[in-house]
Amino acid sequence: ATAVELRAVHKVYHRGTQAVQALDGVSIGFATGSFTAIMGPSGSGKSTLLQCAAGLDEPTSGQIFVAGDDISGMDERRRTALRRDRIGFVFQAFNLVASLTAAQNVELPLRFAGRRADRAEVARALAAVGLGERAGHRPSELSGGQQQRVALARALITRPDVLFADEPTGALDTKTSREVLALLRLLVDQQAQTTLMVTHDPVAASYADVVIFLKDGRIADRMALDPADASR
Ligand code: ADP
Ligand code: ADP
Repeated sequence: ATAVELRAVHKVYHRGTQAVQALDGVSIGFATGSFTAIMGPSGSGKSTLLQCAAGLDEPTSGQIFVAGDDISGMDERRRTALRRDRIGFVFQAFNLVASLTAAQNVELPLRFAGRRADRAEVARALAAVGLGERAGHRPSELSGGQQQRVALARALITRPDVLFADEPTGALDTKTSREVLALLRLLVDQQAQTTLMVTHDPVAASYADVVIFLKDGRIADRMALDPADASR
């Protein structure tokens, strides 16, 4: 099954009189349960691809399917619902709410979805990222790696169809990066969590099943990785 599919996606940004082709005819499918790394030089369209596939931005033309639903023609209200119910997102900067505890941060998406926060569910989500003992800590009391793991628990609490990660290890040191990547890998292996990750780091990319390389808004190359890759 295909979790996310892009068909002939173009994205043009207008800057004054100039038009920038951020995506120039991208067609690709991401299989359910697969872990894909998206690489390429700065400005090649990686963030744009992720934002369009996650319903944060709209393509200029082409179609995007998430779990079989065409999201390219959705109005803002439906795209908001899609992001809330079916998509998880983690960022380089963690984006946790500083005044809330780890548990309250993880609870947030449930509250936005109008669901009552189930304490056991939140505790399980934090335990799954190895932070069962840190539920009452605020972000400032946690290391960078711990904060990113809280962000991961928050992204996954709604059991999204797809997890999008934009440079999730960009702000972390080597050792902590590997802990977060090993955790992402575990989620893919144990829960078949479809994951798309933008990264500049080849070591981070080596945790994925497939690496795609963007150049000038096009897919320039695609590489399948051996699951026994030595750098993991
Ligand atoms: P990457 O993530 O690979 O660095 P981006 O997707 O951020 O690439 O950007 C692709 C191209 O589109 C770049 O030329 C960038 O400057 C341009 N771009 C991205 N977002 C915008 C925007 N909101 N407005 C105008 N140009 C943009
Ligand atoms: P990255 O390389 O991770 O994409 P950028 O600094 O290029 O980081 O982009 C950060 C954000 O700014 C993105 O959301 C992108 O869409 C937006 N952006 C990038 N280039 C431009 C631009 N020229 N004008 C407006 N927004 C832009």
